[in-house]
Amino acid sequence: MSGIYEIAIIGRATWQLHSLNNEGTVGNVTEPRSVRIIDPNTKKAVTTDGVSGEMLKHMHTEIMWILADKNNLCDACRVLNPEKFNFAIKTKKVTTKTAEDALKQALETCDICDTQGFLLERPTASRKSTIEFGWALGIPEIYRDIHTHARHALGERGRSRDQEGEEIEGITTQMVYHRPTRSGVYAVISVFQPWRIGLNEARQSKYTYDADDKDRERRYKLALKAYQIMFARPEGAMTTTRLPHVENFSGVVVYSTKPMPVPVISPLKNDYINEIKTIAKSIGNSIEFVEFSSIADFATKIGQLANNKPYKMEF
Ligand SMILES: [Zn+2]
Repeated sequence: MSGIYEIAIIGRATWQLHSLNNEGTVGNVTEPRSVRIIDPNTKKAVTTDGVSGEMLKHMHTEIMWILADKNNLCDACRVLNPEKFNFAIKTKKVTTKTAEDALKQALETCDICDTQGFLLERPTASRKSTIEFGWALGIPEIYRDIHTHARHALGERGRSRDQEGEEIEGITTQMVYHRPTRSGVYAVISVFQPWRIGLNEARQSKYTYDADDKDRERRYKLALKAYQIMFARPEGAMTTTRLPHVENFSGVVVYSTKPMPVPVISPLKNDYINEIKTIAKSIGNSIEFVEFSSIADFATKIGQLANNKPYKMEF
């Protein structure tokens, strides 16, 4: 059983009729999130659909939170407060003067702070996340639709309510909302750095692991489990009535068992898997890759990595 240094998840996810990420709402029209990219296969500039890395990282964090033993979280993460360990310091639950000590206490305390990263105001410090996501980018073409959704107001009481089916008595006014949905295949990239779990990089003299092996392994497994679930159950905007039809996820998991950054080639490119394989083979025996062809296959294969341990660097 070898230690896992880094893992990259590179694939194409098929989501139908979703509305996971939007620009915002102006009046009664909600705009889908648009991004401008160069299509690598045609070399032409295109406007396509995007789901931001923030949104994907939030999905991953939330699943970790659901799965975590709340005793292994700081006060802020226990209630999914995005301030994370900064909250503990701000509210003086934890007193600390130096960045390295603040990070030490966070790494000793909290599964989410350690793996997902955070910023501290005073002392000023940052814990870089061990889990990174790029934008999920619609591989041209993405089908976009605007659906109208009627919301009726009860004139007498002045209250409005969703109308799902039956007519409500006493309706006098009506608002029409324009809600977008998109269907298509999305290019997804994510990198997880198990070797950095518990590693205090704010130390000036010498880097050390401030979480013990047991905590590091638990956090590693938790992060992998969150990956297993998030592609089977993406959460985001408008899922109340635009729960995505999740169809497929195919691609490649690349991981290294020695200190070696894994190659990340965009799955926007049609030949990304072959390119990754070629790079992995030319680098040698420290990089492995596993292809997956469905959501179930991905969940199985990423889950198998939980039999390994996070790599521990000697300093
Ligand atoms: Zn925390």
